[in-house]
Amino acid sequence: MERLPGIGPRTAQRLALHLLRQPQESVHKLANALLTARNQVGLCKKCFHLSAEDICDICNNDARDRGLLCVVADSKDLIALERTREYKGLYHVLGGLISPMDGIGPEMLQVSSLIERIDQNNVKEVILALTPSIEGDTTSLYLARLLKPFTNVSRIAYGLPVGSELEYADDITLTRALEGRRSLQ
Ligand SMILES: [Zn+2]
Repeated sequence: MERLPGIGPRTAQRLALHLLRQPQESVHKLANALLTARNQVGLCKKCFHLSAEDICDICNNDARDRGLLCVVADSKDLIALERTREYKGLYHVLGGLISPMDGIGPEMLQVSSLIERIDQNNVKEVILALTPSIEGDTTSLYLARLLKPFTNVSRIAYGLPVGSELEYADDITLTRALEGRRSLQ
């Protein structure tokens, strides 16, 4: 339990004790549900968001603006942006950020698939929605240079302190960040 994100030792103990007090059948059901979810959920073949189908609901939605592509590091960032209900374009999930310190280069992320998507579909604007951190800045700069010849590139404006995580931003802050995005030259 302690290995789960956001769970400290005391919460871990509380959860473990709670589960041990439950009827065997309900613990079984929970274990099975976790296994089923883990087995069924993979990545969307277009945007690399978590999805039980080959192509996710967002990519399949014809009401979405196909000329707009929002680049995020992780599925949790996509979920945070979806929560605002303001953004009507599509996404591209990189699967992380460039971090030379951790040995993560662009070739380990969904970068070539991003260029392919921009090249093949008529993408008019790419919005970089990456955290304001050293890794987020490095990745944004790298992508801006790479994508400029193909399309317009902008980065969301943050009303957030440096290093803060996108997923913890409230809906209004995120909506403003999207609306206030700046074009990268
Ligand atoms: Zn998708």
